[in-house]
Amino acid sequence: MSFIDRHLGPRSADAEQMLETLGYSSLDALMDAVVPSQIRLDGELQLPAPLSEHEAQAKIAGYAAKNKVLAQMIGAGYYDAVTPAVLRRNILENPGFYTSYTPYQAEISQGRLEALLNFQNTVMELTGLEIANSSLLDEASAVAEAAVMMHRANRKVKNGFFAIDSRCLPQVISVTRGRAEMLGIPFVITDFSEGLPEGDLYGIVLAYPGNEGDIRDIEPLIKAAKERNALVTVVADLLALTLLKSPGELGADIAVGNTQRFGLPFFFGGPHAAYMAVHKGMERTMPGRLVGVSKDSAGKPAYRLALQTREQHIRREKATSNICTAQALLAIVAGAYAMYHGPEGLRAIANRLHTNAARVATALKSAGYGIAHDTFFDTVVVEAAGRADELVAKALEAGVNIRRFDENRIGISVGESHGEELLKGLVEALGGTLGEADAQYDLPAELLRTDDYMQHPIFHKYRSETEMMRYLRHLADKDLALDRTMIPLGSCTMKLNAAAEMEPISWPEFANIHPLVPENQAEGWHELIKDLSEWLVAITGYDAISLQPNSGATGEYAGLRAIRSFHEANGDHERDTVLIPLSAHGTNAASAALAGLKVAGVATAADGSIDVDDLKAKIEKYGPKVAGIMITYPSTHGVFEEQVAEVCQLVHEAGGQVYLDGANLNAQMGFAQPGKFGGDVSHLNLHKTFSIPHGGGGPGVGPLAVREHLAKFLPGDAYRADAEGKLPNDAALPISQAFFGSAGVLPISWMYIAMTGAQGLKDSSQYAVLNANYIAKKLNDKYPVLYTGPGGLVAHECILDLRQLTDQSHVTAEDVCKRLMDFGFHAPTLAFPVPGTLMVEPTESESKEELDRFIEAMETIYDEIIEVAEGKVAVEDSVLRNAPHTVDVVSADEWDRPYSRTQAAFPVPSLRANKYFTSVGRIDGAGGDRNFVCECPPMEAFDLEA
Ligand SMILES: *Cc1c(COP(=O)(O)O)cnc(C)c1O
Repeated sequence: MSFIDRHLGPRSADAEQMLETLGYSSLDALMDAVVPSQIRLDGELQLPAPLSEHEAQAKIAGYAAKNKVLAQMIGAGYYDAVTPAVLRRNILENPGFYTSYTPYQAEISQGRLEALLNFQNTVMELTGLEIANSSLLDEASAVAEAAVMMHRANRKVKNGFFAIDSRCLPQVISVTRGRAEMLGIPFVITDFSEGLPEGDLYGIVLAYPGNEGDIRDIEPLIKAAKERNALVTVVADLLALTLLKSPGELGADIAVGNTQRFGLPFFFGGPHAAYMAVHKGMERTMPGRLVGVSKDSAGKPAYRLALQTREQHIRREKATSNICTAQALLAIVAGAYAMYHGPEGLRAIANRLHTNAARVATALKSAGYGIAHDTFFDTVVVEAAGRADELVAKALEAGVNIRRFDENRIGISVGESHGEELLKGLVEALGGTLGEADAQYDLPAELLRTDDYMQHPIFHKYRSETEMMRYLRHLADKDLALDRTMIPLGSCTMKLNAAAEMEPISWPEFANIHPLVPENQAEGWHELIKDLSEWLVAITGYDAISLQPNSGATGEYAGLRAIRSFHEANGDHERDTVLIPLSAHGTNAASAALAGLKVAGVATAADGSIDVDDLKAKIEKYGPKVAGIMITYPSTHGVFEEQVAEVCQLVHEAGGQVYLDGANLNAQMGFAQPGKFGGDVSHLNLHKTFSIPHGGGGPGVGPLAVREHLAKFLPGDAYRADAEGKLPNDAALPISQAFFGSAGVLPISWMYIAMTGAQGLKDSSQYAVLNANYIAKKLNDKYPVLYTGPGGLVAHECILDLRQLTDQSHVTAEDVCKRLMDFGFHAPTLAFPVPGTLMVEPTESESKEELDRFIEAMETIYDEIIEVAEGKVAVEDSVLRNAPHTVDVVSADEWDRPYSRTQAAFPVPSLRANKYFTSVGRIDGAGGDRNFVCECPPMEAFDLEA
């Protein structure tokens, strides 16, 4: 069987039946009816013929073989770490973790929420701050977020500037510069050894350690900043913080950094989880996701995403950030790594790294080199006038990559896997002899931390592999991921993440390559990236692409920046307003704000399409200020709008650019190309359409595809930045720290396209449309489909309107989501883009059997709603409002509910054979926000009493 036959859910006999239900004779006829002829692609996509699973793996193995794996001591933000095999196999390679969605539906997500809470608590403990979020996209963008957040949060110094440490990593300075420039926030790059700069300083960013590995006493600077009412961000290495005084203890307000070295491979630059921790009181201005502790209906502790979680959809351009997909899966690994090692284990690793670095420094000093700094953690900078290239070459011969700072200086960053032989070989290659460390490199006592940290039992319980394996199994068992049920989340495209696609990402030849290795060590990576880039260009009909954005929203930000830069370059400085339909994904408006653009809403017509009259009125109103429009296609309402070409044309005539949000490419592949029917720029979501798993909220890849005229505004390479953070030839500033963003997961999309080919992508689109229409048709009588296109058809998703049922019964769409959990289903997208509705996107990978199971569940729920509407049971007492039902509830000795236990737990007979119970009852969301807590609850909180 070919790969595509495995990728698609329905068998061909099923597809025929489904087409019959819809009244179409063939898939082609269905697609002809769904996709407007004006935008139809003639001809076929130009892609290589599809390969079978084993052929594709053989080909990608050839690429892997072209990468050379050396010992990586380059540092520069990425450090050699050992991934404990138990974490790799049971988290990174476990579909129970990697195929789950962002935990909006908290009751079916207690496992990953607990894992993320563990991550947050690791960060809180090590930084000495009270609140941490559950990951940001990368260290450089996290610093940029912090710089902007200090601006928002500082109520004493308004309209001031911030100062960033010139000792920050170059990529950090460059990405932060990009962010600040777009927002018009003034800043200076400062050598803090000369004290704080004069003027209205609202915040400072300090490196701890610095780019050259040097550690300075930052306490006096923090004090001085506080006296000036400036806020303080410290960019800290979490592993170094096991030894050093924490930012919290030193008086900082915010700590940020990377957690890669907590058990994650280099992945050629990403994905890795960045962290952010803040003082209590700042949590409401913090970007990113935050897990909090609340209570369930039985009063037991339960976890949920807290505070600003869905705020982009509510607050749009006023949201604290545009971050939607973050780095959840990587954060889960980092948190588990901290639990597996515990505080003593982490401290031991840190001490060993420091000692080894000191031994290297001592040996090289004796050999006659200069050592640039006496106080360092794991990184030694060696001075050898004019000899840097020679030393880099010698290290290479010893099998080690080291860092070249300039012609006179090299850097050596010692990592967790670097053993005695390797260090000895390296030092000898450089002309020294490895021995004991000189005491002069001991970390000064006044910098060392003396407080206890990570005292909670979770950091002490899981030392044996058996215990860890079982704990991870226990967490995965609490959750619903794609390995158990369809996840029909509209707009999220939760399709198959095939095992053959996933396997190569853990191969050492891909995973263990540092992003700054010489080109000839990463040839396989470059060939793979070139293929993938060309294929995505062919699929979308654009001219150029950047794989740098590490989420869809980052792609939006990069794309809007390209639009702004384009206008600036043409002298159109007044074009500062972007038109965004009110139905757009919330990140669209939030990204526009981040790119320094103003947002003007465009109304939706009664049929769900863009209201062209209102669009014309807005174009009239904003005239020469129109920078462009951002539209989602097919629209967030799940239909292909016929007038899209007209909309694009109107905006172009007004001098604006068209941003087509391509997150919904799944219904278009092989049928329409955004780059050809009117778009100037689109981002894609490889973690939706191109099979990268969602990871419980990341990693993501949001490539930015553009037409020729925008190509020169694609984000540049942070590592080419000068000391000011600027790129040569005025190239566009980077938006992520690694040039290829989340490179480590690109093999997944490469495999998907290599195995599907042009026809397979078309099949994917067709089956996605078939499945969505099948559900829409089957449920329409009970749950009217809100918007349809020609022929009463939808695209790849449909909105089920529950508002009338809610009016009649007071049963809400949320009740239905929770009740679906009793049937073992993950709910559809709730209340987006229309409140009171559910948006269902089955994807092509779901079988007819699974769709029928979902339809049966929804029909059963309908009958339950009608009972309430008819007054047979009060809504508060209903099986719907009391859902989901836990084992505890269903098996209790007392039973006083107006429905039976069977109805509660086994509403359809098939559940007797395959039943999932949520581990908690309905969670009190509002209460959790009023009473915000993000510390792991004490063990007693879970005391088992009936
Ligand atoms: C998912 C989605 C986004 C945001 O993507 P992230 O990777 O979560 O940042 C943007 N637009 C649309 C239409 C989406 O569905």
